[in-house]
Amino acid sequence: MIRPPSPEHRRSVTILGVTGSIGRSTVAVLRTRPELYRIEAVTAWSSVAALAEVARLLGARLAVIGREDLLSELRTRLEGSGIEAAAGDAALVEAAERPADWVMAAIVGAAGLRPTLAAVRRGAMVALANKECLVCAGALMLAEAARSGARLLPVDSEHNAIFQALGAAPLESIARLTLTASGGPFRDASIETMEAAGVEEALAHPNWSMGAKISIDSATMMNKGLELIEACHLFAIDERHVDILVHPQSIVHSLLTFRDGSTLAQLSPPDMRVPIAHALGWPGRLDLGGADTAPATLDLAALGALSFQAPDAARFPALGLARAALRAGGTAPILLNAANEVAVEAFLAGRIGFRDIVRIVAAVVEEAEHGPVTEYEDIRAYDARARSVAVRVTERTGAGRVFSSRPGGRTDCAPGASEAKVVSSKGSAWT
Ligand code: NAD
Ligand code: MG
Repeated sequence: MIRPPSPEHRRSVTILGVTGSIGRSTVAVLRTRPELYRIEAVTAWSSVAALAEVARLLGARLAVIGREDLLSELRTRLEGSGIEAAAGDAALVEAAERPADWVMAAIVGAAGLRPTLAAVRRGAMVALANKECLVCAGALMLAEAARSGARLLPVDSEHNAIFQALGAAPLESIARLTLTASGGPFRDASIETMEAAGVEEALAHPNWSMGAKISIDSATMMNKGLELIEACHLFAIDERHVDILVHPQSIVHSLLTFRDGSTLAQLSPPDMRVPIAHALGWPGRLDLGGADTAPATLDLAALGALSFQAPDAARFPALGLARAALRAGGTAPILLNAANEVAVEAFLAGRIGFRDIVRIVAAVVEEAEHGPVTEYEDIRAYDARARSVAVRVTERTGAGRVFSSRPGGRTDCAPGASEAKVVSSKGSAWT
């Protein structure tokens, strides 16, 4: 039986992607109740200084940097701490394999699948922020979790809300799910405005502070499309029973309608420390009251009103595209995710326009094949192929366009933006 963390039974924790937006929020929650946790491993891709600093702060046993050329710097920065240092893709997987009770999967993109799968395969509690894993390998992840007894704890705020609303009720009691969406920075923008949008405008999310990739996904609403696929896997539900609802205030994080007619929702200010705290305390509840680092509680009187509207399918074609990919099955969700990662990277680098992202994804998904894809090696191969097709389509798209928005590469304003692996130049983010 899994018990909540306590000073007598400290929970051991590994954080994959500790230097990112979710990783840093996880550290903030852990620091409010340090007596309940012991840190096994922390990982990052290239932010070596931040990784060494957080490893020391948390007293981790192991710190892993993805880029092998940064190992000697990591060793230097950890000198005298007694913390083990390692580097490279195999070491990222080893970090996930270390015997921590609880693993935060917060690497961005399909690059996180192999380490996340390693944690699932050894039966850990896996706090799942990395939605791309479930989009491209949902059936495999769930089959491995069922085999090993791993518990998937949804951290994406919508899925965490549904998980909380579900409680101990069986999945069969669910009639409908309603995923709420802020609508992102272009919620009320015209198609013309979106066509001309630059990187900074697309990164400027009205409610959430997040990594660069998910911020762009929120602006195209591909994020909600990926979340639709994620929800169907996590809650074993058909996409026809999942609605998307625009809710500009991001207070109601999703709703669950039971077959008996009740609808339950989870509410909180838009702060990822809330779902992270839920996953860290599960199956109990953490007491964060009074801590400086605790999230603010809800003040509905100050908010006054909450509003809801249907999403606009014409301005946000990513929603229909994701739904169609899920319905088509086979390789379609793998292609959707891989093409989106390549296109978002190209947009952030100033090589394509904002609305080109979804055009590129649509072109790549056309190549989808039928039939189930449940083996890791097959998923990896389809992902790699989709990335090379997406790179070619992106180059053609970029060559034919002149931008009014500033070119000049990624911005540094979003956490993690400067260090994500440039998948498009390597053809594959897989290891
Ligand atoms: P981020 O870009 O801020 O951080 C990503 C982390 O992954 C960093 O620690 C980085 O070093 C590491 N990383 C990047 N590329 C890597 C690679 N190739 N191999 C190994 N490590 C790599 O991203 P984020 O916003 O924290 O998002 C992380 C995941 O959580 C994403 O899948 C995102 O969709 C999901 N998520 C994020 C939020 C949010 O509020 N940020 C909300 C819900 C879900
Ligand atoms: Mg979300």
